Amino acid sequence: MKFATIFKEDQEYISRCILDYPHIETGGDFFGFWNNLGLPVIQYVTGQGKNSNQQVTFFQQDLKYLLKVSNAAYQSFGLQHIGSWHSHHQLNLAQPSGHDAQTMVNAINKNGLNQFFMILGNIQGDRTTVNGFLFDKENQRRYFETRWNILHEKNPFKETIDKLVGEDLYLPQTTKAKFADLKLINNVKAETIVLESNPEKISIKKDVESSQGNIEKLAHQKFCTFCGKKLWGVLNDETSSKIINVTEMIKNKK
Ligand SMILES: [Zn+2]
Repeated sequence: MKFATIFKEDQEYISRCILDYPHIETGGDFFGFWNNLGLPVIQYVTGQGKNSNQQVTFFQQDLKYLLKVSNAAYQSFGLQHIGSWHSHHQLNLAQPSGHDAQTMVNAINKNGLNQFFMILGNIQGDRTTVNGFLFDKENQRRYFETRWNILHEKNPFKETIDKLVGEDLYLPQTTKAKFADLKLINNVKAETIVLESNPEKISIKKDVESSQGNIEKLAHQKFCTFCGKKLWGVLNDETSSKIINVTEMIKNKK
C-alpha cells in the first residue's frame, strides 16, 4: 500500500483553497521529504501565487512565487519541493489528465528525480476530494493512487515559512474544509518501520572467492577473526578450509 503523510491542517488548507474556486482551477505546491519507503512526507503546503495562470481546465503556478516559497522552505528547514496539487473543481475528472501525467513525467525526467507526487481535488456538493497520485522514474505515466496518513499535531514549520513568504502568501477565503471520500490508511501499523540493529552477517565464502589479488587484506581480516575475540561469521567446513588455505598461503609467502 502506498501512502502519503500530511498534517491535517495542510490537507484542510488544500480543501479550503479548492472551495474558493468552484468553477476554475487553482493549485499549489508542497515541500517535505521522501521516507525510507520512498513515500512522500509533506511538511508544508502552499496555494497559488498572485500571477498564476488559472483557467477552467488548466492551472500553472506563478513561478516567481514558487521560487520564493521554495527558498523559504529550504532555508528555514531544509524542505524540498516534492510535488504539486491542483483542483479539477467540478470537471468530471478525478484522475490526472494526460497533460497532468506528462507534466509529472517531465518533472521527474528533466530534474533527475526518482519520484514526484501529485494531489488532485474535485468539488462534490459543498465538499472536496483530496487524492494523491505517486509518479516515479521507473513507471513514468503509470502512477500509483495513494492513501493518507494524517498527522493531527500542529504543523511546526508553517508559522515560520508563512512569515518568510509574507504578504504574498495565499490565504483562502473559505474558512472551513469539508472532505468527501478521504482515502485513509487502513492499518495504522502499516507504515511503522522499525529498523532493527541486527548484527552484521558477512558471507565469508563470498569474501574468499572474491579475494584473489587481495589476499593480504583478506588474511588480515580473517586472522583477527580466528585468533580473536569476535566471531562475526558462521563458518561451515567448506569456507573454513578455504580460509585456512588462504592463511597458509600467507604464511608460506612470509
Ligand atoms: Zn489536471
